[in-house]
Parts: sequence; C-alpha cells; structure tokens
Amino acid sequence: MRIKTQIVATLLSAAVLIGLVGGIAIISQISLTRSGALAEATSVGRQLAETIAFKAADAPHSLFERPEALREFVTAQHSDSKRDLVVLNHDKVILADVPGEEKNVGTRYGHDPDNEVGRTIEDGAPRDFVERSADVSEAINLVAVPIKDAPGKTVGAVLFEYTPLLHAAQQRTNTVLWLIGLCTAAAVLISAISALLLLRGFGAGLSGLNRGIESLARGDAGARIGLTSNDEFGQLARGFDSMATELESSRGLLVEQKAYIEDIVRTVAEGIVVIDGDGRIVSANPAAAEIVGLRNDRIEGQDWRSILDIRGLSGDRMAQATSPIELALTTGRGHQAEVRLAKPDGSYLPVIASCNPLNRSDGGIVLTLNDISELRSAERAVSDRAEELATLNRELKETSQATTRLVKLGELLQACVTFHEAFSVVGSAMPDFFGGLSGTVHLTSASRNLVEEMAHWGAVRSSVGQFAPEDCWALRRGQEHVAGPGMLTPRCNHITENGGRGYVCMPLAAQGETLGIVHLCEPDAADRPDWLTERQQILRGVVDTLALALANLRLRETLRQQSIRDPNTGLYNRRYLEETSSRELRRMERSGQPLAMIMLDVDHFKQFNDTFGHEAGDLVLKQVAATLLDHARESDVVSRYGGEEFALMMPGTSLADAAERAEALRKAIKQLHLTHRGRTLGTITASFGVSAFPELGASWVEIVNAADRSLYQAKADGRDRVVAGLGRADPQWDLSTASQSVA
Ligand code: GH3
Ligand code: MG
Ligand code: MG
Repeated sequence: MRIKTQIVATLLSAAVLIGLVGGIAIISQISLTRSGALAEATSVGRQLAETIAFKAADAPHSLFERPEALREFVTAQHSDSKRDLVVLNHDKVILADVPGEEKNVGTRYGHDPDNEVGRTIEDGAPRDFVERSADVSEAINLVAVPIKDAPGKTVGAVLFEYTPLLHAAQQRTNTVLWLIGLCTAAAVLISAISALLLLRGFGAGLSGLNRGIESLARGDAGARIGLTSNDEFGQLARGFDSMATELESSRGLLVEQKAYIEDIVRTVAEGIVVIDGDGRIVSANPAAAEIVGLRNDRIEGQDWRSILDIRGLSGDRMAQATSPIELALTTGRGHQAEVRLAKPDGSYLPVIASCNPLNRSDGGIVLTLNDISELRSAERAVSDRAEELATLNRELKETSQATTRLVKLGELLQACVTFHEAFSVVGSAMPDFFGGLSGTVHLTSASRNLVEEMAHWGAVRSSVGQFAPEDCWALRRGQEHVAGPGMLTPRCNHITENGGRGYVCMPLAAQGETLGIVHLCEPDAADRPDWLTERQQILRGVVDTLALALANLRLRETLRQQSIRDPNTGLYNRRYLEETSSRELRRMERSGQPLAMIMLDVDHFKQFNDTFGHEAGDLVLKQVAATLLDHARESDVVSRYGGEEFALMMPGTSLADAAERAEALRKAIKQLHLTHRGRTLGTITASFGVSAFPELGASWVEIVNAADRSLYQAKADGRDRVVAGLGRADPQWDLSTASQSVA
C-alpha cells in the first residue's frame, strides 16, 4: 500500500474513530440525562414519601393518615415546584392530587401502562413510567415511590412528575452534545486539513527526493534536491544533498584513481591482456601489443587463439587445453608457465605467461606477459662464460700437464752431455707433446752452410734430411713459418711436396743465435684447420726449451773445447794430450798395437819473433799447426805442447812409420811460404824427435822423455832434422845419421 494511501486511511480512520467516540458520548450522555433526572426525581419522591409517612412524637398520625392535611401538603408542594404530585393508597386509589385535579381524589389511578404503580406498591421498589392520556397533550414522566409506614410495610405510593427535571437535564445535555459534536467536527476537519497538508508536504518532499534519486541513478553526480524546509523532508533532502556531494567527490577520486591505474597499465613493462569468459580479448596494454607484435586495435575484440600463438619451450605447438590461458579459463584458477610466443615475423619470444581469474560472474582472466628474452640471453651469456671457463680450465689443465712435461723435458735435456743424447731424448719425447703429428729437429752445421736432421718422430717424413739454410723460410726470416692448404704463404724448399699437408717451421733460437728449426707436420691440415692454433703455445714452449738446452750444450761443448784446445792454433793442448795418450796407450797395449809420438820445435823462433814481431810469430805457429793437421790421420792427436813446441800422438803407428811421417812433416813445414802484412817471412824449419811404444818405453812418460831426447839431439845435431828412437838399446834405431842425410 502506498504511504499516501496509508496516511489518508489513517486520517480517515482517526476521523471515524473521533465521530464514533462523539456518538457514543452523545448516546451515553442522553441515557445519563434521563437516569440522572430519574434518580433526582426518585430522591425527591422518597423525601416526599417519608414526609407523608412521618409521624411526629407530638402528633399521633402521619400526613398519610390525615387526608385534609395531605391535600394541603400536596397543594403547597405543587405551588412551589409546579410539578404533578399524586398520593395513592395501597389500592392505587388517589388520596391527594394537585390543585385543579381534585376530581380525581377517590378514583383509582389507571394511567400506568404496565401497572408500574401497582408493582411498586407490591414490592416497594420505585419505578418510572410515562403517563399518556387523552386529556394531556404532552406525555408526563412520572416516578412511583412507595410510602412505607414501617420498614417493609408499604401503605401507598407517591407519584412525582419529573418532566421539568428531565427537560432541564436534557437542556444541559444538549449543550454538551453540541460541544461534543462541534469538537468532533472540528477534530475531523483538523484531521482532514492536516491530512491534506501532510499529503501535500509529503508529495512535494517525495517528488523532490524522487527527482534527486532519479538524477543520481542516471549518473548525474551533481544532482541536488535543494529543499530548505525544516521538516523531515528538509532533513532528508539535506542528507541526500550531502550524500550526493560526498558521492561526487568520491566519484572524482574514483575517476582520478581510474586514470592513475590506467596510466600504470599503459606504462608498465609487462604486457597485460584481459580476456573474457568466452576467450575474447577485452583489452591489451601497449606493452602487450609490443610483445604480441600487433597494434592494439588488431588485438582487442579478437579471440585470443587467433592472436596469441603460445608454444612450448622448444617452440612446438602445445597440446590441446594445456596452455596456461586455456587452463585458467577452464578451471577458473590461476596458472603460470614459461612459454614461447610465436610472433608474426616468425621469431619466438620467451615469456612468462601468468593467468589470474577475474572476480566476475561471467568469468574471464587477466593475462600478464613478461618478456624474459633479456634474462634468457643473460643466462645464455653466463652459461657461455661458464663453458669458456671450463674450456679455459681444461686448457689450463692441459697446459699445466704440458708444462710439467716441458719441465721434465728441460730437466732431461739439461742432463744430456752430448747432442746425440739430447736428440735421442727429443725423438722419444716429442710424440707426447704433439700426439699424432710428425716432425723433425734440424740443426745448422758449424760451418752454417748446411741444415741437418738430428731427430725425427711420427709416421710422416715431410722434410728432406739435409738442406741449405736458405731453403727454409723460418731460417731466412728468423721467425715461425706456417704453410698449408688454403694458405698464401710459400712452402719451404726442404718440404717434400704434398699439397694436403700443413706444416710449421719454428727457428730454434737462443742467446742471440739460431741453432736450427723444429719442423711439425699435420698430414690432414685441410680437414683440421685448427691443428696449429691448439698446439701453438706448447710448440713455443718446446722450441724455447729445446733451443735453450741445445744452446747450453753447444756452450758446454765450446767450454770443453776451450779447456782441451789451444785457442791460437786450435790444436789440442798438452793436458788433453796427456789424458788421451795414457788412455790410448792402454788401448794399444790391450790390442797389441804400437803407438808413436813425434815432438817438434820451431827452430830459432825467438829470432823470428824478434825480427818480424809477435803477431807474425803467431801466424807462423798457426800455419805450422795447419800443416800438422793436414798430415794427420783421424785417430792422431795433434797438440801444441807449449810455446813453439808441438806433439803428435799416433795410435797404431810404429816407430819407423812415425819417423817417415816426421820427415814428411819436416819437408812440408820447410816448404811453407809465409807473408805477413806484405812481408815475406822466409823459410821456417823445425826439429823432430820421434819415439814409440813399445820400443822406447811402456809408459807415456818414458815415451815422451824418449821423444824429447831425440828432439834435443836433433837440435844439437844442427836443427831441421828428424831424430827417432834415441835412447833405445838397439843402436840401429839411432837415426842421427838418417837425420843427417835428410838434412
Ligand atoms: P832453438 O832453435 O834453439 O829452439 O831457438 P829458439 O829461439 O827457437 O828457442 P828459445 O827457447 O830460445 O826461444 C823460444 C821463443 O819462442 C821464445 C818465445 O818468445 C817464443 N815463443 C814462445 N811461444 C810463443 C808464441 O806463442 N808466439 C810467439 N810469437 N812467440 C813465442
Ligand atoms: Mg822451444
Ligand atoms: Mg825453438
């Protein structure tokens, strides 16, 4: 029911209620009027009856018993009150009546319609009734009150008219009734008016509220009712207006926040895609468009499957309903996975796709795409670094192993005393360093005109054994030379031709001197382009170690040579002669062979020195030494014994043969034509002493002494001669005569 109807109904029922109450009040007032008048009349009737029945102490009869007095009393009462008053006896016979009605005295009263008077006399209870008779125009209201002689003994009745009393009461009642009626009418009127006013106020307030609410519902946050009244509607309107103001400001805040959130979504690096429950893309931020590789307007409104080509980590298509988007859409739960996004240009982008369901009745999800390509490439870089590090480690380990081997090689080479030993070490150690590859070590000869192979390893021979230094580019240029298939560098002449082979020649250089080369060959260089790069370092190590070792060996040899040779003539010195001679002597002794010794001394050398100078003297000594070497056999030891004195030790040569050899030497020396700084130095002669084992002694000292004696003899005999076997028991060996003849 509408409130207006309720108000009208309430006011109407209030009016009806007021009318009803007024009516009831009127009715009860009317009945009260009658009963009030009756009660008053009954009371007056009782007093009259008591007065009539009263017997004074000084009078033996009551008024009732005295008819004349009774009539006078009635007349007196009537003259005062002008009301009818009739006194009856026990038989309803009238004893006294008001003036004008005296004719009725002695008659039986019969105007009570229901014998009310008879019954009152009977039971002694007052009763009222209305007397209607033809001789009275107006009905008379009467009350019958018993007259009691003694308690319980009714002797008659008084009829008392109370119409004036009733009229007076009715008049009062009418006034009250008017008042009640007026009040009721006024109340109804006021209710009606207030209902009207209320309805009007209500209608106006409600319509104002309605207007405001409708405007607000239409989204007009500026809607205001603007009622200024102080009533409840005014309060409501003010409440509404302040609520609308709050709403407007919070809506402004909301718009601001929305713009803020939109700004974040627009600028965030992650791609954000909203997909509805049917799989349609509702919105996508610029980052998502960038990741997908399509413009926003090409994405929005499309089915996600036609825009997002989600692949597995390997780039394969994912099985039906296994992509995180499908899982999230079908299960309504969040799903996240690393996937590859196939882009329109055919590339794959590694992304983390996170799908979270929206709190909406029609479903839908928010898809976040996180481009992790940089992360993955950084990871790849890290793993590449790790691999490089592992390779480096491996190389380091290999290098350290190779270094250990190198150190060992160095130690071994240092322990070698001769080149021969050194090269045998090199030959067996190299395969360890250059597993599978063949190679050689070539050394440059002392004369520097020949390069000779000293060691070889591996199955392939790629260089000739001997060649001239200029046949090798490494020796020519003093630096590493590499040649092979596909390379523009020239091939060395010492290489045995095979186009498929690759090789390197490394100069063996130490202490400023190039000793030779290390040559390394890779038969399958065409298939293994890195064959040298991976060995370059170790090759350098080996070459350096080897060069140093060989240089040391050479140095050691030089020192040794220096300790056993005379630097001026290059012949062995006396110490070496003595060392070797004792050994050779024992060897000859064991093998039963002779050993001869020739000692010679340049004649008048002091004089020569004095004449031509010391330098010219040195030259003479060198020439003599060269002559001696020319005439010597390989097994002979030619030595400078001291000053201008020389000695030849000849294993396996007899005394006689030695004497002949001495003679030949004497002649050869004499034939020397020497010049020094353009000056002819003249003829050189020398004296010779010859001795031999076993004829002239069993010990070296004995043989030397014998040779010395012979030499002394040769000097004494006049110089430039040979004396052999002096001091021997057998005089036939005294060659003084022979010397003589030679001279
Ligand atoms: P004789 O015929 O008796 O042997 O007479 P000699 O002068 O050769 O003998 P002597 O022993 O008197 O003199 C040897 C000289 O040789 C003395 C020394 O100055 C010289 N002499 C020794 N060693 C060298 C050398 O290495 N170079 C030069 N230029 N002279 C030397
Ligand atoms: Mg001498
Ligand atoms: Mg001399």
